[in-house]
Amino acid sequence: MDKTIKLFNCLYPKFIWEMPPVEKVIYLTFDDGPIPEVTPFVLEILEKYNAEATFFCVGQNIEKHPDVFKQVIEKGHAVGNHTHSHIKGWRSPVETYISDFKNCDEQLGLLTDLKSKKLFRPPYGRITRKQAKVVRNTHEIIMWSVLTKDYDIRLSPEQCLERAIKATESGAIVLFHDSLKAQKNMRYALPQYLAHFSALGFKFKALHFDT
Ligand SMILES: [Zn+2]
Repeated sequence: MDKTIKLFNCLYPKFIWEMPPVEKVIYLTFDDGPIPEVTPFVLEILEKYNAEATFFCVGQNIEKHPDVFKQVIEKGHAVGNHTHSHIKGWRSPVETYISDFKNCDEQLGLLTDLKSKKLFRPPYGRITRKQAKVVRNTHEIIMWSVLTKDYDIRLSPEQCLERAIKATESGAIVLFHDSLKAQKNMRYALPQYLAHFSALGFKFKALHFDT
């Protein structure tokens, strides 16, 4: 876990940053989809490694691509709320933020029957305490312990992979993106990441919290 993440971890102890390191398990997460250009690639590569993951979906994308969203569900992955319009928490009044958040929940709810606690990840990792208080009434707020920075065009695909591998330990929650911006790095890093940790005996599971 890097220093910035550790600092935020102290500021927001009620959020989930990583899972207990009791077994060789990694929790992969994918933000900003589902989109037809990238999400099916992710699903295919996850299937190849028998890996489960958690997709934090943008409501507008579910609305535009319900068939891609359906594929995510059918493959047995977990899904979470990433707001309807990828709204910035620190710049939005509580009412606006919560209405956008609820909109996404509606999109998720159309096709899913969630038996475990609902999951939420704030876009940009930014959310005010007031907003978080409302969200936590119904959702577990999931952050991450490994930021791959797959979206960072200054990073080469090799650097992206290296930083992801270095930062990962048992129980890690790893953040990738199924987005157009991140796909160049992600398409390279994800398969190699899966190959690397599968060979070391790690399993990849979806995030579930009992209600
Ligand atoms: Zn996002």
